Amino acid sequence: MSLVPAQNFTPDELRCMREAGKILASIFRDLRDQVKTGVTGKELDAWVEKEIKARGAIATYKTPEVNFPGVICISPNDVVVHGVPTNIPFAKGDVVGFDLVIEVGGMKADSAFTMCVDEDPTGAKKLLLNTTEKSLYAGIDAVHGAVRTGDIGAAVENVLKRAKLGIVRNLVGHGIGRSMHEKPDVPNYGQRGSGALVPVGNAIAIEPMATLGGWKIMQDDSDGWTIRTADGSLAAHFEHTILITENGCEIITQL
Ligand code: MG
Repeated sequence: MSLVPAQNFTPDELRCMREAGKILASIFRDLRDQVKTGVTGKELDAWVEKEIKARGAIATYKTPEVNFPGVICISPNDVVVHGVPTNIPFAKGDVVGFDLVIEVGGMKADSAFTMCVDEDPTGAKKLLLNTTEKSLYAGIDAVHGAVRTGDIGAAVENVLKRAKLGIVRNLVGHGIGRSMHEKPDVPNYGQRGSGALVPVGNAIAIEPMATLGGWKIMQDDSDGWTIRTADGSLAAHFEHTILITENGCEIITQL
């Protein structure tokens, strides 16, 4: 079992990361009101880009670190993650995931949420959305200071398994800070007491991805980015960036 290197953030780096997290959370709060039947992903992408600039941050997906064709990933229905914003209007009842990374002073914050367009979800959609979000908070609650990635994975997996959701295995959470993806991988499954030990002071992104079907995913070759469920089932994705503290953690991507 390995020890993840300490990131040793300076006070100024921490200040920038917290600011990036707050800005991201405020954009997400306002984004929810923009998501309506008939709106397109491209229109939302343009709105988010304007908001990031207005709030003095930088859209990491458009930097050379990622080179994504948009500032935000917009992933409808069977798209799990990395959906490219399109000109297809949203329909009532679409289940749409939004994943955004922004930076202030080079320090990154990463967060995602999934919602139902113009509809309070019921039945299977409600189960998928509520359970996936709940599993994110179960993962966060497993952090009480230095933590093994298996402790987080086991907590996430336990919630998703009980609801019989498919747990995406090929995509995982990650360390974050000066780069968007740092050590270690943070899987959404695992065993308590196993995995890499993440020290106090480090930052990680926890991001459960679940489906109403199986765990397998496939790359959509049409754009080289979009990742869908292999069986066409609906998927959901929730994510927060957290800073590990002495006795717990601080969710930096919330208001
Ligand atoms: Mg992430």
